[in-house]
Amino acid sequence: MRVKIVDCDLISRTNHRFPNLACMKISGYHKKRRDRVELVTDFNSIGKYDLLWVAKVFTSSWIPDGLLNMPNTIDGGSGFYFDQSPNLPPEIEHHFPDYHLYDKWIEQQIQNGKKAKEFEYYTEYSIGRLTRGCFRRCSFCINRTAKKVEFASHVSEFLDCNRPYICLIDDQFLGYKDWGPLLDELIQTGKPFQFKQGNDVRCLRKEQAEKLATANYHREMIFAYDRIEDTAIITRKLHLWRKYSDMPTKLYVLCAYDPSGTYSREFWVKDIVDTFRRIFILATLNCLPYIMRYEEYHNSPFRGIYNNIGAWVNQPEMLKTKTFRQFSIQRGISSTVYNTYKDDPEQYIKDGYKKGISWLCLDDLTKQFPSIADMFFDVKYGEHFNEQIINIPITNRKVNKEKYKINTTMLRCRVDSKKLCLLKEIYGNLTNTQLIDRLINEKVKEAFSTKATERLDWKE
Ligand code: SF4
Repeated sequence: MRVKIVDCDLISRTNHRFPNLACMKISGYHKKRRDRVELVTDFNSIGKYDLLWVAKVFTSSWIPDGLLNMPNTIDGGSGFYFDQSPNLPPEIEHHFPDYHLYDKWIEQQIQNGKKAKEFEYYTEYSIGRLTRGCFRRCSFCINRTAKKVEFASHVSEFLDCNRPYICLIDDQFLGYKDWGPLLDELIQTGKPFQFKQGNDVRCLRKEQAEKLATANYHREMIFAYDRIEDTAIITRKLHLWRKYSDMPTKLYVLCAYDPSGTYSREFWVKDIVDTFRRIFILATLNCLPYIMRYEEYHNSPFRGIYNNIGAWVNQPEMLKTKTFRQFSIQRGISSTVYNTYKDDPEQYIKDGYKKGISWLCLDDLTKQFPSIADMFFDVKYGEHFNEQIINIPITNRKVNKEKYKINTTMLRCRVDSKKLCLLKEIYGNLTNTQLIDRLINEKVKEAFSTKATERLDWKE
């Protein structure tokens, strides 16, 4: 039988550099049955086949009209079905991946001038998952309807001894009740390993931190910091992590996602503020942020600012050496005269050159929201960041309906004038009392959310 496999992300995303595990398992399964298997690398040259598998991980990956209506086609993956994606049949799901499915394509890419290093996940790593699922039900995630973390496979199921590294694509490994033996199996392979997704640091336990810190971990540890509401628990867990490990640690910072789905102007302003807050909070914890923009950012009135933040933060050498203002201005200098003016933007304007889009976006936000600019745009990464100005302390213990009223006075006393200016910019023309009530409501929600998050830990 002639089997063809279409990895849609590979074809439609120019810089996509990660193999599709399902495609590799499908290929492995068919090759074992002595079928002729071929990877399709161009939608226009699918040619003849007996069975066509079409897979897609990313919703935004483009596919041509009619592809899925072709005869003898089986489609699958989160890119088509998001959280409702059907599982592969067990005999394929647990089949050893065909790590050579992409060989010809890689060869071509290298012949076309690409560097071999770009394809390291295709050539150097054994890839798989030890667990699947999650219990937190974040509405933006493909696990939003999952109920728990379950065992998926032992490392031996996908380990290729000839490959130097192991890459895990688990979503919620730290929240799996029987993580210990699985981590031991990984360590016993003797191979450096890494978790590719952002691990849920909110679940991190002392024993896990100890074990991961001494394991042969490959590259940086990656955690997730999706919501500002989790600041208290994430800070606590990162302190725990740092007690055991000084390994380079990065946290994915999700932005431009509104769980309510309303995407009001108030949401966008607050999201910009909360994104900056998380960036600078991480600096104080000796961790690097990595900006993950939810695709709705394209429709934000601050789209340009999100682009600037992403470009600034996701290049650590920029983040560490330039303030946001310096970076955005330099990014707005014409590339033809960049070297001449990069350190003297005033002269650039005097000499009659025009500000580029990132500089204009910076000016626009500064004009509309001077307090936001004042609070974040000139902060040097790693400098002391006074989070207390916007984070009014309130302990979880004091948050209940009875005591809430009593604490209101105490909370009001702690709001300073700088904070009020910022809040007015976020929430528009509310009176001071309304603003403070709003803030207190948010703090109460945050505190309850922290408690709820902690309660959810290790739910089976
Ligand atoms: S914690 Fe992570 S894996 Fe779990 S539902 Fe939320 S985003 Fe998804």
